[in-house]
Amino acid sequence: MSLDPKLLRHAEAARGFMPPDEGVALSEAAEAVSVPGPYLEVGSYCGKSSVYLGGIAKRQGRVLFALDHHRGSEENQAGWEHHEPDLVDDDIGKMDTLPIFRRTVHDAGLEGTVVALVGDSPTVGAVWDIPLALLFIDGGHGHEPAHRDYETWVPHVKVGGTLLIHDVFPDPADGGRPPYEIYLRAMESGAFREVDVTGSLRRLERIADGM
Ligand code: SAH
Ligand code: MG
Repeated sequence: MSLDPKLLRHAEAARGFMPPDEGVALSEAAEAVSVPGPYLEVGSYCGKSSVYLGGIAKRQGRVLFALDHHRGSEENQAGWEHHEPDLVDDDIGKMDTLPIFRRTVHDAGLEGTVVALVGDSPTVGAVWDIPLALLFIDGGHGHEPAHRDYETWVPHVKVGGTLLIHDVFPDPADGGRPPYEIYLRAMESGAFREVDVTGSLRRLERIADGM
């Protein structure tokens, strides 16, 4: 078991959309990273994946940037499949997962490791200049947001670094296409090799520059 038992309990108890086996696979992916540099996840929601990744980052002395505008994806909005009504700020009629995210990271003892980037992915990405040892893509799952996240963030993954993509469903009956499409882009680029498949989580290693 890669995450220590106390952190594992925090991760499993945290709200979010990461099944336990895929969460453990996230931790194992982080544990296997050998190149130096920080980690970044696109799409933190209430901080569940942040604990699985951040728990390992802490032990390694790394930072995990946790990027989210905390307003929810399309599929989190009212009337959609993954909507949780208590996450709406009633004063403004918009979702706000930031308070729960902060509480999750606090309770897991990861405030010194997990650095929240509260903003829109392309806005932050437009000024980003830090090479990444690990990138986890789990933001908007529509066609435009998923491909944009791919184009924005994948170039920052170092050779030898890790690219993780969540909600990859080769069979359309299991879920939406865009995460699968960006997984295919990575594979077809020749710049990545597949290392692991756990549920809908794909772990790739960058073996060459390009995308
Ligand atoms: N990794 C999380 C789940 C992420 S859900 C877990 O383990 O539970 C997807 C998240 O992506 C949502 O919180 C949503 O707010 C965020 N998101 C969607 N589009 C975004 C964008 N353009 N910029 C920043 N965050 C975005
Ligand atoms: Mg997901």
